[in-house]
Order: sequence, then C-alpha cells, then structure tokens
Amino acid sequence: MKAAMLYGVKDLRIEDIETPRVGTGEVLVKVRAATTCGTDLKIFQRGYVEKVIKLPTVFGHEWAGDVVKVGEGLEWPKKGTRVRAGNSAPCLHCFMCSKGKYNLCENMTWLWGAYAEYIKVPAHMVRINMQEIPSHVSYAEAAVAEPLACVLHGIEEVEVKLGDSIAIIGAGPIGLLHLLTVKRMGAEKVIMIDLVEERLDFAKKLGADETINAGEENVKEKVEQLSGGYGADIVIEAIGLPATWEQALKIVRKGGKVLEFGGCPPGTEIKVNTELLHYGEVTVLGTFHATPLHFRKALNLIASKTVNVAPLITRRMPLGKIKEAFEILSTSKSDIKIAIEP
Ligand SMILES: [Zn+2]
Ligand SMILES: [Zn+2]
Repeated sequence: MKAAMLYGVKDLRIEDIETPRVGTGEVLVKVRAATTCGTDLKIFQRGYVEKVIKLPTVFGHEWAGDVVKVGEGLEWPKKGTRVRAGNSAPCLHCFMCSKGKYNLCENMTWLWGAYAEYIKVPAHMVRINMQEIPSHVSYAEAAVAEPLACVLHGIEEVEVKLGDSIAIIGAGPIGLLHLLTVKRMGAEKVIMIDLVEERLDFAKKLGADETINAGEENVKEKVEQLSGGYGADIVIEAIGLPATWEQALKIVRKGGKVLEFGGCPPGTEIKVNTELLHYGEVTVLGTFHATPLHFRKALNLIASKTVNVAPLITRRMPLGKIKEAFEILSTSKSDIKIAIEP
C-alpha cells in the first residue's frame, strides 16, 4: 500500500509499504479521508515528535474510512462499515485510569499512520474507541471528531456557562472548534484574537462576535473595552506558546478562568502573578487530549450538526500531494484543514 513516510524536517515521501495483516480482534480500514492537524504540521516542520516517534515514520492521526478486513472474534464491525477510531485507547486499569483520568492513561494505545491507503486498528481500540459513522456524515467531517473531542474535554473542564464572555487566542483549527462549540453552549460574546486578518475574517463568518488583530491593536485594552472594563469571563489559549499563555492571564476578569489549551514546546515555563491568583481569584487550568466518551460525543455533535465542522475543511487533496498540502498549510492564511483522500 502507499503511505506517507516522514524522514525528517519537511522530508515527507510517499512509499510502498506492506499492507498490515489483521490479527484477532483487529480491523483493517481503507482510509477515505485523513484531515491535517496543527500537531502534524509541527511534526512536518520540526521533523520529529519528542519522545514519541522514531524516524522514518508513518504519521497522521485524524481519519475515517471503510472496514475492509475483520479479524477473528469480532461481531462488530462488519466489512463495509464506515468507521472512525482512535487515535488513542486508554488501558482502563492503570493508576490514572482508576482515577477516571483516561486521557492521562499510562499505558495508552496510540495509533498513527492515517496518511496511508490503509490503517490497522488494534483490538483494544476497536473495543473502546471506534465508532460507526452515520451515513449522512462525510468521512472528512468524521475525521474531525478527534480534535473536537480534545476541545470538548477542555470546555467541560473549564465549565462554560450560559452568558459567558469568552476570549479565544488563536483562530486556527483548534481556536475555531472552540468558537463553534462555545457559541452553541450559549456564550454571550466570543472574542477571537489572532495575527492574521484572513483568519479573523473567517472566524467572523463562523460566528465570532468580535475580533482583535494582536499585531495592530492592544489586546488587553481591547478585551477590557469589549467586556465593560473587566476582562473576559473565560480565556482560552489555542496556540501553544508561552507568550500567549501569559497573555491569556492578562485578559481574564477577576474570578474568571483561563484554559491553557495549546501544547507548548517541551521545557518551557510561564510566569504567573501571585496576586492574580490570590486577590484576583483567577483559576488557571490546562487540559490534554480526550477520553473515549469525548470522542463519542464529538462524533454525535458533528452528526447532529450541533457543531458544524464542514466549513473548516477548506481543501481536499490526494495522498500523492500530501507534501504540497503541508507546504500550503505552512504558508496559507486561508486554509484551515486539508482532507487528504487516499
Ligand atoms: Zn489532531
Ligand atoms: Zn490506563
């Protein structure tokens, strides 16, 4: 089968590799759509993933497709079932799983290799984190269940309430998924902050009430002005840089909450003013990844159009052009997610 192999910084090649064989409880899926993600773009640009992957490697983790082979011992799925799965499955019996923190599982089964003609789903993942895709949902939309699951997890932890004002730093795919979700939860005002005007325009089309170009305006002053002088009830950082993590702390109101969502480079730190936490009663939290329940909810919310992710897929390209796809994402101001269709 053909698969995209990453050899190093921007060195991505389409190669013929052996199609995986299915064992007991496993399934082989013909990938119909794999969507690009900020994490993949970082891996492409840096050429590695810390501690996780050895080069050369298959990659890509947001996908959906058709089951083409079913291993022994499975009653579900059947050949031909449209499914999405993964990219993770918690073990259900480690210490973190016993505390209900399935997203922090210490023996997580991870699955990479979505940019390929076929992907083999491990038996454990078939059991606990694979879903059938309703027939009216496209493969590309279903693939977006992965990042949406992570977003739902963050939003649940930060407890968005009806009537909240919410500032979101970063109008990339993750920031926009937050926007779509909190609007449906009854946020009164959503303020999107980014450096790229095209992205802010796009955010407006998706329902942002206000936008701030951080390159042209004073973000703190503008957020205060838009929130009666106080700052936002909730601030969500959706970029993953220490500077924007710190900026998030400066635009929240007293008693408000900050969700530091974007993963920063390893070893980085931020400064937090003690008075902000004490006298200001600001809550700061981080969230990582998602649980199987969030994946299930994400696909259901996509299917019911409660969260309409279709506009985020701005381009479709064949597997053979995957390198071009990542080059487009490195420079384009208007592309959000590209669906690779092997
Ligand atoms: Zn992703
Ligand atoms: Zn576990």
